[in-house]
Amino acid sequence: LLMNADQSMYAAKNAGRNCFSYFTEALHVKAMERQLMLQDMREALAHKQFCVYFQPIVELASGRIFKAEALIRWNHPERGMIGPAEFIPLAEESGLINPIGKFVFKESVRWAKRWADLSPAGFQISVNKSPVQLHSVVDNHDTWLNHMLECDLSNNSIVIEITEGLLLGADARTTDKLSKYRQAGVQVAIDDFGTGYSAFSSLKKMDFDFLKIDQSFVRDMTPGSNDLALSEAIIVMAHKLGLKVIAEGVETEEQKNLLAAAGCDFLQGFFYSRPVPPEAFEALLRNNWASLGVSIRDVTTIQ
Ligand code: C2E
Ligand code: MG
Ligand code: MG
Repeated sequence: LLMNADQSMYAAKNAGRNCFSYFTEALHVKAMERQLMLQDMREALAHKQFCVYFQPIVELASGRIFKAEALIRWNHPERGMIGPAEFIPLAEESGLINPIGKFVFKESVRWAKRWADLSPAGFQISVNKSPVQLHSVVDNHDTWLNHMLECDLSNNSIVIEITEGLLLGADARTTDKLSKYRQAGVQVAIDDFGTGYSAFSSLKKMDFDFLKIDQSFVRDMTPGSNDLALSEAIIVMAHKLGLKVIAEGVETEEQKNLLAAAGCDFLQGFFYSRPVPPEAFEALLRNNWASLGVSIRDVTTIQ
């Protein structure tokens, strides 16, 4: 009875508090599904069902793939490939985001090393870091930085992406952690810019390197639209603050041209490529670099 009452209490809290909620069969089913998902997620870690896909980030002026964003996928034995939107929230709630985040980071370091070695021009990988990880005491920046050193990866090969919501209630530990990364040469990007509540004030909290314009501005961008006007203003502001701008969710030639005219620095989206497994990404990278005459070193086998 107490357990079920607890479920109703959570439902009432989620509905905005200060109200009541009956315990229903649907609540029970949802709780069971959650429990099952949690169990599956623990097994997924042990059985290596998680994998990391990479999506290119292209420099607008040259058309060159400069970086990639690492995006986690879950290859579930029964449900097939599951996207992060379905399991990251529960991973955050349960604390499983810490070991999952560590896995993504290690994979990213491994591939960043390989792709940075491919060309003297270098290469960067962007890794999403959940606010929960940054708030957590389990997540130690020294371990991460040491791992990069052990792998002989130059620090500016990794970028950490954080959402602006994180900065809204950021305590000293969070900003301190981020500053430590930056001091060690890891760059920081502010993700999904324009969607949170904090927007402009978040830029005062600390120094960043990149600002990512959220897809919701790009999706319906047309000449003369508010979305375009806002994006133009964001780009001017970011440049004045010394930040480079990446537009997310670019799907069409028109969006690309409008963003080019607005002075955007980098583009990411299905127009160039969907997120793909590392081997497919490397093929994409080699093709792109070869077509632009970027010199490619001989790094042969993929382990
Ligand atoms: P995000 O960091 O903003 O990542 C961009 C999302 O936009 C990705 O979704 C990507 O597949 C999608 N996307 C890219 N280009 C386009 C486009 O042209 N059109 C459309 N419609 N979508 C596009 P994905 O992979 O499903 O990831 C969703 C979110 O999950 C990410 O948003 C990020 O917040 C989170 N996430 C992904 N991987 C990780 C991870 O390793 N750790 C943590 N903490 N969060 C992650
Ligand atoms: Mg991101
Ligand atoms: Mg984003």
